[in-house]
Amino acid sequence: MTTIRTSCPVCGDVELAPTDLSLHLTPSSGTGTYVFACPHCEQLQSRPANHRVVSILLATGVAYEVVDDSGPITETEIREFVSSLDGDEWRHHLRL
Ligand SMILES: [Zn+2]
Repeated sequence: MTTIRTSCPVCGDVELAPTDLSLHLTPSSGTGTYVFACPHCEQLQSRPANHRVVSILLATGVAYEVVDDSGPITETEIREFVSSLDGDEWRHHLRL
């Protein structure tokens, strides 16, 4: 399985599976924001994704959604993502 390396401001470098991330794409710029729950501290992290990062994430099969250009990730989107983590499904990925 593909491993994505990123970093948590608290824990430092972490490794994630593509299913652990959610990418929000801004079509006009080709960049976006990706969101993940740190496997160590379980805090939700949101990071900007430049062209290169977007390409890498899409190539690894990360789920994405297109957002409009009005701004970065919203509180509503964060809440929706958090609520989607309520199930046990995602926890399996973190043990891979
Ligand atoms: Zn962390």
